[in-house]
Amino acid sequence: MDAPARAAALAAFALETSGCTRCPLSETRSRVVFGAGSADAELMIVGEAPGFQEDQGGEPFAGQAGELLEALLVGIGLGRDEVYLANVLKCRPPQNRDPLEAEIASCEPHLFRQIELVRPRLVATLGNFATKLLSGRPTGITKVHGQAHEVALASTTVLLYPLYHPAAALYTPSMLRALEEDFARIPALLGRPEPTPPALAPRPAAAPLPAVGPDRASVPQDTVQLGLF
Ligand code: URA
Repeated sequence: MDAPARAAALAAFALETSGCTRCPLSETRSRVVFGAGSADAELMIVGEAPGFQEDQGGEPFAGQAGELLEALLVGIGLGRDEVYLANVLKCRPPQNRDPLEAEIASCEPHLFRQIELVRPRLVATLGNFATKLLSGRPTGITKVHGQAHEVALASTTVLLYPLYHPAAALYTPSMLRALEEDFARIPALLGRPEPTPPALAPRPAAAPLPAVGPDRASVPQDTVQLGLF
């Protein structure tokens, strides 16, 4: 199937899935959050489940974790529309509780079909649920983040790349640093050149340092490049 045919098949599958009743989450959700992005993406990112904002708006990664994810993507030269975003669960669990095994099992065929249609080279799994499901292994994200390995998924072979979940990294600086470092390796894993950091404006040698403002020397370089503050 060429890229336009895969995009059409993905749109048809989204429509088919919009009425899914495979598990009881269909009774509490506002809408199915199918996934979004390019059907021709080399990078697919798989999160856990929609939250409140996603359930209301229908788009994955619409909240704060999504903002961080988008900043990380910009840092490696990718726009949100150039990747494909999906979740293990397509429907929001009540009160954002953890997905149940039965829900994951019910929803799994949807994710596998998405992988089959997009055929990404690299699948980045965010957090424990996506990582354990797609690796087929019980090892937690703390041990495996940043370690890419090939897996056969949905009639294709992809490079699986477990990452910390941005929602967790938002509140834990050490996880954020690890996530930034792991993210920085994505271009190389995709066989692309490293994006060049934005050039600093030239400044006269004798220009005085600003008296106020953040001390850039004390801020980790990767944080500055991502413009997170
Ligand atoms: N939003 C999503 O769509 N998925 C997550 O895992 C978290 C927030």
